Formats: sequence, structure tokens, C-alpha cells
Amino acid sequence: MTLEDHAEELASDLGVDKAEVTRDLENLVNYSVPMDEAKQSLRRKYGDGGAGGGGGGPTSKDIADISPDDGNVTVTARVLTVGQRSIQYQGDEHVIFEGELADESGKISYTAWEDFGLSPGDTIEAGNAGVREWDGRPELNLGESTSLSILDEALDVPYEIGGDSELTDLVPGDRGINVEVTVLEVEEKTIDGRNGETDILSGVFGDESGRLPFTDWDPHPEIEEGASIRIEDVFVREFRGAPSVNVSEFSTVRPLDRSVEASESAQSMRVREAVESGGLFDVELTGNIIDVRDGSGLIERCPDCGRVVQNGQCRSHGAVDGVDDLRTKAILDDGTGTVTVVLDDELTAEVYGGDLEDATEHARDAMNKEVVAERIADRIVGLEYTVRGSLSVDDYGANLDATEFAVTDDDPAERAKAFLAEVGA
Ligand SMILES: [Zn+2]
Repeated sequence: MTLEDHAEELASDLGVDKAEVTRDLENLVNYSVPMDEAKQSLRRKYGDGGAGGGGGGPTSKDIADISPDDGNVTVTARVLTVGQRSIQYQGDEHVIFEGELADESGKISYTAWEDFGLSPGDTIEAGNAGVREWDGRPELNLGESTSLSILDEALDVPYEIGGDSELTDLVPGDRGINVEVTVLEVEEKTIDGRNGETDILSGVFGDESGRLPFTDWDPHPEIEEGASIRIEDVFVREFRGAPSVNVSEFSTVRPLDRSVEASESAQSMRVREAVESGGLFDVELTGNIIDVRDGSGLIERCPDCGRVVQNGQCRSHGAVDGVDDLRTKAILDDGTGTVTVVLDDELTAEVYGGDLEDATEHARDAMNKEVVAERIADRIVGLEYTVRGSLSVDDYGANLDATEFAVTDDDPAERAKAFLAEVGA
């Protein structure tokens, strides 16, 4: 069945205008709501009691009590953040407004499909707001059937209003956020976008708390290397397992009259804490190297895509003439957990004690490629290292792409002595 068929069926069941149902259905489906769930939610919206539904108007609820099973609710809330974003469906651009609402009991994300003229700090009553589930949590949909009024009396809420945030506090899904940053790196790129080739900016922002990558989808001239700027209305997405700041056509960028100092050091964390965060752009971990994994040392990469070639076969390109490269995948353990540290050719050359040419000669002499990985293992396994880099976490594990890999300079015997002194032994 096409979306059109589903809409037809719903409209006739519910006795409402088909165009309206089609529009609602498109909105929901475009927002990744599965078709069955979207239809159920529309049945509730248009008052078909359906299975278990009691009918009647939506009830007033405290935000903390809203559950994904509520069809529609009425809430009185303070607007914490308002972000604007353009989405695409059926070939049309549609501007939506997103952010968080709060009352005394809690806060909740919302999406407004209409421009209700919301601003952070407004106190609103939203009647007949739709509830949907996103990532296991309820979210509010404010649409055509929502009656929205702005109240005169401000509701006191125990949350900060406005969306100002430091970089290290950002998580994927944040919207309507304001940041004050310095531009550490920026480059222009041309990508194949929705409407053909588009120029974008990408790079790295820094503030006192840390650093994050960014993409500016509608290049702002104020975003230039070394500039200190305030950007209002950015959203945060996950990019290679870590949060990334997204600047859009709706963001405003203006120069600051102070200079933002980017933190030089990475956040230092225990392995377990870092892995549980789900991914970090710039983190420092310290632990023992307990093993060197397969696929380390002298490896071959596909000349077309750069993937590692095994037995002369690339996963995408079949039989290829591999290009030699150096890489190390080492397991780092700090007692709270483990990550796989990935060293590029340069860091691998440092721990191996020779470059690619030395490694190929070494392998040729021994008539065995494994000697390169073996020497690396001999040199690093059992020692304590401090590693800095970008951590990504997925179903296959936690990988840290290292930018720095340094043996911890204090010697274990000294540390043991210091420890014994401390405990008074
Ligand atoms: Zn390939």
C-alpha cells in the first residue's frame, strides 16, 4: 500500500478530510514514525476510540507524567529552547521548530510543525499536543490540531532557559543551542547535496571546555580560522560516533569582542566512563597495553577505497593490488574497561622504530609479514601509555583513533614506592 492508500483508508474510516490526513501522515512518516504507529496516532488524533481508547478530550498532565502511550495531552510549560530546521518531504522544504519545554516536574522535547512564534522563556499552554515515542522517551508534537496560547504569568522551572552551552556538555539530539567558540580549523568543501553540488564548511570549534567538529551547511563568512564568535541556534548530531555541531541557514553568527581560549588539553577520563559516554571527539585515556590485535603492523590497503585488504581481496572491490601501509590496533586496559587504540602510519612508525620502507625490508628478509606486528607488540605490550584521540563506540566495540600516544614517563617502581609510602608501609 502506498502512503496515499493508507491516507484514503484512514480518511474514510474517520470521516475526515483526506488532504489533511495525508499531510499528517507524511509529517509523521517523514519523521521516521513507522506507518502502523503513525496511523494509530492519527486515529487517536481524529477521535476514533479504537482499541482501548476512551475518547474524550486530552487531559492536562505534568510533564514528568507524560508517557509514550498518551495519545494527546494538554500541558502548561515554559519554553527552554527553540531551534529552527528545514526538512524535506515529497520534494518540498518544510521548516520545523524544535527544542525543550519544562514545568516544575520535568522537561520534554518537542517538535512544532507550525510556526507558533515561540521564544525561549515563553510560558505556554499547549492544548491537544500529540505524544510520540522517540528513542524510548515521549516527545510532544505541536501541529495543526494543537491550540497554543502564550500565558502572561511566567511559570517557575528548575532549568536554565535559553540554550547557552559549553561544547563538552553537548550531546547528539540537542537543538536550539547557542555556543561561544573560537574557530580552530575550517575548510571549504563541495558535496553532492539535495539540490546538486553545494558548498559547505567543516572544521573544529574550541572553547574553554574542549573541542568539537562542526559543519556549516550554509557557509557564514564570520566562521574563519582564529575568529571568536557567538552562534545561536545550532543543533547537534552524531558524526563518526562523537557529537558534532551543525550550523544552518537559521543560525546567526556574530563576532565576539572577547577572545575565546580553546582548552589545550583533552578531557581526561577512565575508560569505562569514556565508553559509556557513547563517543568523544577529543579524550585522553591512560592504561596498560595488554595486546596487539590482528591487522596490525605491515598491512595492505585497497588503492580505490583505502579499506584494509585481506588475502588480496577488498570487501568492495574484489581482487586488488594492495598498497602497503603501517597500522597498529592495540588494546588499552585501565582496570575499568578496554578500548582498541588505532595508531596511524606515523605513530606506528614511532612504536615500531622504523618507517614503511624499513618494515617492508624487515618482512622481506624474514619472509614473513608478521615480524613487524611482533616487534611492535614486544615494544608496547605491558607498558602504560597515555593516549589522546577521538573515541567512537559501536556494536563492534570502542575504538580510539589516536593523535598522541606516549609512554607514561613515571616508572612503575617509583609509583609502587610512592604508593607504599602513602599507605605507610
Ligand atoms: Zn576497495
